[in-house]
Amino acid sequence: MRGYRADIAFDGERRLPGGALVLVEDGVIAGVESASFPAPGDCPVTDGAALLPGLIDTHVHLCGDSSPRALDQLAELSPDQLQDVITIAEQQHLRAGVTTVRDLGDQRWAVVDRSRAAGDGPTVVASGPPLTVPGGHCASMGGVATGPDALRAAVRERVDRGAGVVKIMASGGVLTPDTDVFSCQFTLEEMRAVAEEAHCHGLPVTAHAHGLPAVERAVGSGVDGIEHCSCLTRDGARLPRALAERLVEAGIYVCPTVGRVPGVEPPPHVQARLAAIGSTFEDHLAHVVELQKAGVRFLAGTDAGIGPVKSHGLVPMAVVDLVACGVPTADALASATGRAALAIGLRQRTGRLAVGLGADLLLVDGDPLSDVTALQRLRTVVSRGRDVTLSQG
Ligand SMILES: [Zn+2]
Repeated sequence: MRGYRADIAFDGERRLPGGALVLVEDGVIAGVESASFPAPGDCPVTDGAALLPGLIDTHVHLCGDSSPRALDQLAELSPDQLQDVITIAEQQHLRAGVTTVRDLGDQRWAVVDRSRAAGDGPTVVASGPPLTVPGGHCASMGGVATGPDALRAAVRERVDRGAGVVKIMASGGVLTPDTDVFSCQFTLEEMRAVAEEAHCHGLPVTAHAHGLPAVERAVGSGVDGIEHCSCLTRDGARLPRALAERLVEAGIYVCPTVGRVPGVEPPPHVQARLAAIGSTFEDHLAHVVELQKAGVRFLAGTDAGIGPVKSHGLVPMAVVDLVACGVPTADALASATGRAALAIGLRQRTGRLAVGLGADLLLVDGDPLSDVTALQRLRTVVSRGRDVTLSQG
């Protein structure tokens, strides 16, 4: 048995008033006591200023190496090269305190296949290739299907292969030229077929949606989550009150994919595309403020791996951005721990300091509840009971 102790503790949902001593045995949390609780005699205890669950990034692309051509090069990589990219990405997440990731865009099922074997990386929930239209956003990943019947069959293929979520591209995307971020890729009937079929098999659906019509259609189709949720029109982002109310009432998880590497600009071809769309990261943050005022439930996924601005291990920066957008600190922390685990179907496995869950833990220097940048001052990272080596290997 080992112990991890701090006078400040966040359990994935709220602050624990007495701090915490978390006892770990065989990779599982065996006890959660207050910090003043005497550890069993021979139990080694690691101390830190604050203790919280390991972080969860609900939107990553482990196949992406964060280079300027991260997604463009996917079809050129050999299976071995792809495995190397995934291994490096997983280690970058772990070293940033991210012990669980949800992969929302896969090449050749590489991430799904790996996620079925228990490796030494973070826990992975994966979608496989996102559903998209011919020539549509991320079509090169291999998830093209159209028409309700073919889409239902594609969902069943994901179930059979062991995917833990269905990802559908409801609009075009910034990184796929010749797709339109403002308009819808699928009909409402097609999107409903995907949501119904996935729910039949117990899988949640999350929709990539930039344009306002795509966000509205995603909400109408019964998806569980919306990625980006940019609500873009040709005159900038708009959040109609009726849409905001439906997002809140339906309890849809909104992952605005904030978080970026400070001081890094997107590559020129991406900047040109963003300029053509008429949207900047700052505009998007202003839109997140509106979503926050409306009361939506956020997840702190980052889109890690897609380019130099989006490195793996970025979720602490996403939490910082959410707080800057007005999200209360405990709520922002929950969006990367307890709520994130619930949203991705792992509430009984990770995301909280609770007996019986996997021992995914962080000790940080500072109080993340009063200063979320403390998440970047890692002392100890524990992934399924194993201490992660934090120095760059
Ligand atoms: Zn993405």
